[in-house]
Amino acid sequence: MEFDLIIVGAGVVGLSTALAGTRRGERVLVIDTHGPANSFGASSDGLRLFRLSYFEHAGYVPLLREAIEKWKTLGDDLYVPAGGFYAGPASSELVLGSLASAMEHDIDHRILTAKEANDQFPRFRLPQDYIGFFEAEGGYVRSADATSAIYRRASENGVSFATDKVLGLSPVGDRWSVQGERAAYLASQVVVAAGNATGELVPQVAPFLSRETHLLVWHESDWKDLPGFGIMNETGEMLYGFPAVDQVPGVKVGGHHRFSSSSTADQERGLAALTERFLPGLSPTILSRKTCDYDVSPDGHFMIGEVEPNLVVACGFSGHGYKFGSIIGDVVHDSFYCIPHEVSFLDVSRFISTNEST
Ligand SMILES: Cc1cc2nc3c(=O)[nH]c(=O)nc-3n(C[C@H](O)[C@H](O)[C@H](O)COP(=O)(O)OP(=O)(O)OC[C@H]3O[C@@H](n4cnc5c(N)ncnc54)[C@H](O)[C@@H]3O)c2cc1C
Repeated sequence: MEFDLIIVGAGVVGLSTALAGTRRGERVLVIDTHGPANSFGASSDGLRLFRLSYFEHAGYVPLLREAIEKWKTLGDDLYVPAGGFYAGPASSELVLGSLASAMEHDIDHRILTAKEANDQFPRFRLPQDYIGFFEAEGGYVRSADATSAIYRRASENGVSFATDKVLGLSPVGDRWSVQGERAAYLASQVVVAAGNATGELVPQVAPFLSRETHLLVWHESDWKDLPGFGIMNETGEMLYGFPAVDQVPGVKVGGHHRFSSSSTADQERGLAALTERFLPGLSPTILSRKTCDYDVSPDGHFMIGEVEPNLVVACGFSGHGYKFGSIIGDVVHDSFYCIPHEVSFLDVSRFISTNEST
């Protein structure tokens, strides 16, 4: 059967793109080795942090605002504005970047001295020279439920799904043939949203993608009153975490940004040190652990855009892409035509010569 659009990868990015295709009336097929909404990719497990005052780049904020509205249309409790609490030395990227985004986009926020932060958020213990930052619209997305919700909506809208491992792509006239282990498929347009595996199918992006394996641990705790949080230390390592509302029991924490992704044992030691320092009352007992891969771009920003006529990649989400899941499919889909100027910093053409620039 022939499709208007084939998407390789049924994580949050691929599913969101499928939904965007159906809104434009297209016949869409999504192919994934493990099937849709699987627990093998980066889009699995219970919660993902939602930050609005985005320290990485103020240009993400308009997308995040749209993402909030879109999450609401996909389900009642998928986006949970439990509050976002961020902290670090005054000169840290997290504090300076969050503040810059908040100022540029007029986001309601509060700056707190370490003493004010320790008084108002007594679960945390900030050193005296740290600054706290709070935004009411931060929090988390219930990612396992959210991925399933997008999958359901895409199915209702008529998207077809195939469980198959894609081995290669080749142009056939003005269309693309997608070779799977089980079958071959044909489409006018193809999006590859296969996380780290994107480079195996689209060699142009391979030199610009690296894999980092990150550890998540669940501490024995019933702290439901935590906001979504991120605390950056003096060397840029960020401890982040969630209240105890996950489907997995306990308080989940992980390491981000300049946090070392070396061995799992080293990560566990690093997380324990940061947790003991910034959340001294949290039980050190670990109930469960999980590792999950980041697909990292050279500058930490997403890589979206057309690399050959009618072939788009969406990868390099660098460990912070989930929160955009409700809206990112529109950006990916539009990139067949052009990437909006406001998010041109996500255009894959910043690394490779694309169809338009050659
Ligand atoms: C530990 C961890 C913590 C994170 N925390 C946050 C957070 O707090 N907030 C946030 O916003 N983001 C967070 N992220 C990032 C976010 O989860 C990812 O950016 C997002 O899920 C990426 O989605 P994706 O669809 O690109 O990739 P994936 O979900 O990995 O989907 C890719 C899919 O492609 C399929 N595939 C691969 N190769 C093939 C092939 N050859 N043929 C067919 N199918 C194939 C895979 O089976 C997979 O299902 C975190 C990520 C990790 C790993």
